[in-house]
Amino acid sequence: MSENAVFPGDKIASIEEYEAGYNTFDDGDMVRAATVGQKDLDKTTRIASIKHPKLLSIPKDGDIVIGTVAAVMSSMIAVSIDYINGKPTTSKVECICGTRNIRIRNVALVNDIVTLKIISHLNGTIHAAISESGLGVLFTKCRKCGGKVVPMRDAIKCVECSWIDERKLSSDFGKGDIFNLRD
Ligand SMILES: [Zn+2]
Repeated sequence: MSENAVFPGDKIASIEEYEAGYNTFDDGDMVRAATVGQKDLDKTTRIASIKHPKLLSIPKDGDIVIGTVAAVMSSMIAVSIDYINGKPTTSKVECICGTRNIRIRNVALVNDIVTLKIISHLNGTIHAAISESGLGVLFTKCRKCGGKVVPMRDAIKCVECSWIDERKLSSDFGKGDIFNLRD
C-alpha cells in the first residue's frame, strides 16, 4: 500500500484545515476515514476525501440493497450487502438496520436474505431501514429444523416440522429464482 493508504477511523486532517468530504466523517476535531482507500486532500477546496477502490460499491442514501444477515443483535441486524439497486457487488460492505420499532419476534435470522433501503451514513456506518412493505426478509428457513417455510398471513410456517414463526417479510417474499438456489 502507498503512504496515502488509510483505514476506517484513521485521522486524515484537522477540521480547522479541511472539511470532511466523500467517505470521511468529522469527529468534532479531526476528519477521519470512513472506509479503506487513498487519502485525497484537495488544497484548493480544502476538502479531505477518501478515494475508495470500489467507490461504486458503496450504496447511497435511498438505494435498495439485498444482502445476507451477518449478525442479529437485540435492537439491530448487520447485513452484508450482495446487491445494490439490483446490481451484484463483491465488496461485501456491511450496513446495519435498527429493528427496535418492529414488533416481530424474529425480524430476521442470521443467513436470511433481506432487502433494505439505505437511509444514512453516520460515522462510517451505513444505516438501512426495513419497515416499508417492500422491505424485509426475502428468504429464510425454519429456526427449529432448517426446513423450507411458507408464508401464512403475517407469519411463516415450516413445511417439515410445522413450526410457526414470525419474520419481517418483504412483499416479495418467496418470489425470485436466485433465492431458491441457496438451499
Ligand atoms: Zn421446521
